[in-house]
Amino acid sequence: MNLILSKDILVTRSSMPDFDEYTNEIKELWDSHWLTNHGVKARELKEQLKKYLQTDNLELTVNGHMALELILTALKLPAGSEVITTPFTFVSTTHSIVRCGLKPVFCDINPDTYTIDVDKIESLITDKTSAILPVHVYGNICDDDAISKIASKHGLKVIYDAAHAFGVNYKGTPVSCLGDASIFSFHATKVYNTIEGGAITFKDPSLSRVIEEIRDFGIHDEESIPYVGPNAKMNEFAAAMGICNLRHVNSEIEKRGKVVEAYIKGLSGIEGVKLNPVFTTSIESSMQTLNYAYFPVLFTDEYRMSRDEIFAELSNNGIKSRKYFYPLTNEIEAYKGIFDSGSTPIALDISKRVLTLPMYADLEISDVERICKIIAG
Ligand SMILES: *Cc1c(COP(=O)(O)O)cnc(C)c1O
Repeated sequence: MNLILSKDILVTRSSMPDFDEYTNEIKELWDSHWLTNHGVKARELKEQLKKYLQTDNLELTVNGHMALELILTALKLPAGSEVITTPFTFVSTTHSIVRCGLKPVFCDINPDTYTIDVDKIESLITDKTSAILPVHVYGNICDDDAISKIASKHGLKVIYDAAHAFGVNYKGTPVSCLGDASIFSFHATKVYNTIEGGAITFKDPSLSRVIEEIRDFGIHDEESIPYVGPNAKMNEFAAAMGICNLRHVNSEIEKRGKVVEAYIKGLSGIEGVKLNPVFTTSIESSMQTLNYAYFPVLFTDEYRMSRDEIFAELSNNGIKSRKYFYPLTNEIEAYKGIFDSGSTPIALDISKRVLTLPMYADLEISDVERICKIIAG
């Protein structure tokens, strides 16, 4: 029995190549019996992604989360030091800091862009702060000018969680070149996927070798193992999927753009419905290009019902939206009594009002119109 009705609209749907394109891509692997460990497909994908993301320094990983853990380890931040970050993100961002033996310090977000509020960073810096880890949430790019100014003044590393920002440029610079490093997620649900996968881009080319070693159990060579590393390599089948999907990613992003256009048309002017400002201001004033990763909607007090009520109404109509990001990462059960969402009141308020609507390249415009009609009431 199928629990998902065929008429249901899911919040996301993975981009995939034609079956024949993929089987053609893995034929070589099948014949060679070389399935993982820096094989021919991983090496090929790495070169292609360096070009696509316009960076000289890139390493592939098994997923975006391990990319975060690897770069936090590779930068050798002092054990127990503080990392300034935001709680309005996927739990992976916060978990990576904690799992690497570092302490997240939560900064509130800007109510307009949902990214880190750069005016609140400096008051959180102590003599234990070692890094800033902001998130380009929904593909909205952080104020890098302000962040890098603060970081260089205080001698801090900047690591961007760019999981949502694949292929985006900011003031003409590719996001892969911002900060000391950035991580990307190639999870099945992201704009660009390798089924599961991720990458780290970074400024200092000498990090390349360090990341390679940490990614492979910390092994330098057969007799020397300088790091406590996990296994975080991308396998050949994932890399092959990535090679196929990269051929189509531009047209997939273009199709997402049409979906966003239809949403904006259908939702503009509804009382209490606030759209992502990055979509509704001109590219010149937002200073960034778009990859249409998510379609977040904020329901203000003027809206005819609460966020939870419209979530339920959509669900009753077979439309799966997500309370993304709710709860905040500083109020989840795992961190009960350790962190406090009261320190980030704007993020807390937004987390109670936001919904991300179904968003994928093949979403039918007629379905978007139906969703908008339900929201309009
Ligand atoms: C998806 C995501 C991650 C983790 O990536 P995975 O590839 O799923 O491990 C990290 N941070 C953010 C903001 C994400 O959305």
